[in-house]
Amino acid sequence: MNIHEYQAKAVLREFGVPTTRGIAAFSTEEAVNAAQQLEGPVYVVKAQIHAGGRGKAGGVKVVRAVEDVEVEAKRLLGSVLVTHQTGPRGKEVHRIYVEEGSSIDREFYLSVLVDRTTSRIAFVVSTEGGMDIEHVAKETPEKIVTVEVDPATGVMPHHGRRVASALRLTGDLAKQAENLVTKLYNAFVAKDMTMLEINPLVVTKDGQLICLDAKIGFEGNALYRHPDVVALRDLTEEDDKEVEASKFDLNYIALDGTIGCMVNGAGLAMATMDIIKLYGEAPANFLDVGGGASKDKVTAAFKILSSDPNVKGILINIFGGIMRCDVIAGGVVEAVKEVGLSVPLVVRLEGTNVDLGKKIIADSGLNVVSADDLDDAAQKIVKAVRGG
Ligand code: GDP
Ligand code: MN
Repeated sequence: MNIHEYQAKAVLREFGVPTTRGIAAFSTEEAVNAAQQLEGPVYVVKAQIHAGGRGKAGGVKVVRAVEDVEVEAKRLLGSVLVTHQTGPRGKEVHRIYVEEGSSIDREFYLSVLVDRTTSRIAFVVSTEGGMDIEHVAKETPEKIVTVEVDPATGVMPHHGRRVASALRLTGDLAKQAENLVTKLYNAFVAKDMTMLEINPLVVTKDGQLICLDAKIGFEGNALYRHPDVVALRDLTEEDDKEVEASKFDLNYIALDGTIGCMVNGAGLAMATMDIIKLYGEAPANFLDVGGGASKDKVTAAFKILSSDPNVKGILINIFGGIMRCDVIAGGVVEAVKEVGLSVPLVVRLEGTNVDLGKKIIADSGLNVVSADDLDDAAQKIVKAVRGG
């Protein structure tokens, strides 16, 4: 799960991480109010969207008067920002962040992540801040330094010293960097982050080390222990159908084909997608109802699939182990009755209570095609979406 920059900075401040003062605003009036409460005369007006690259796209403006905060707020709110991370459709700006301006001496890159090859938390730092780290990694990889933390010891002063030295900081600034490393590590662990990126981390002209941008990703499986983090979720940043699916604890991922797939288990999902491709069509999504789906879940899943205009046919492929086929069949019949069926539907059931499940579908009188195995199911749905 991702959050906005201003929220990320608020989380980091809880751990004593240095940031500049700022106030989020949802309207131009709020932005002007915010500027009046902050110390001028330099302000930074920043579009809050879940994507980076805002600076180059005009989403970050340094201004020198409250009137200019107003101008930039008007321009940004409601506009669509297209950055190299948003894709061509861009993202609409609903919130902005007004910050006190900083005079920058140097910009660095710093991120904290979980390195899966070593199973350790690692700090990745570079003196080449403010720009695309992917670009630095490609052109001058020697300018990126990684410092790993052994989970047995946790963060130690030497980690901080190595980060400071990689950034060529000495004296008081090195001390500040060492402190920062400890605080970021503590925040990362306490909040179950998967990724924390500060780009740029800056040294100001008056010798302060400050996080000028912040991006945080949280581990979805640990969100249950962080209701305060869940409260920061901005649903307008997420795919509508994915949001709806998550309410019912369904795993849904939109793809770009024509066949909507309802399956249980990731393995079966992959097999189903492969076989659809084998017969020449492509899946419109990946929808996994999980092992213990109820009738409600199946109904919700079916509604999500049939509301997608890209879906030209639906394939339900369920292996009933823990999940009983009659429950699935009942859910499907109920859902079809409720939302109607405007595209062909092929159902393949196998496993516990399969005969009862097939009977429920046959007796429903609905226009549902039954399939015997995976191969048969894929051929039938592909034929159906091609108008045969
Ligand atoms: P991003 O482009 O989405 O990553 O947004 P950032 O928050 O990183 O801002 C982009 C750039 O704006 C930074 O790299 C800085 O160079 C500049 N910037 C941000 N805040 C300030 C500020 O307070 N003062 C000055 N002079 N520049 C700033
Ligand atoms: Mn940035």
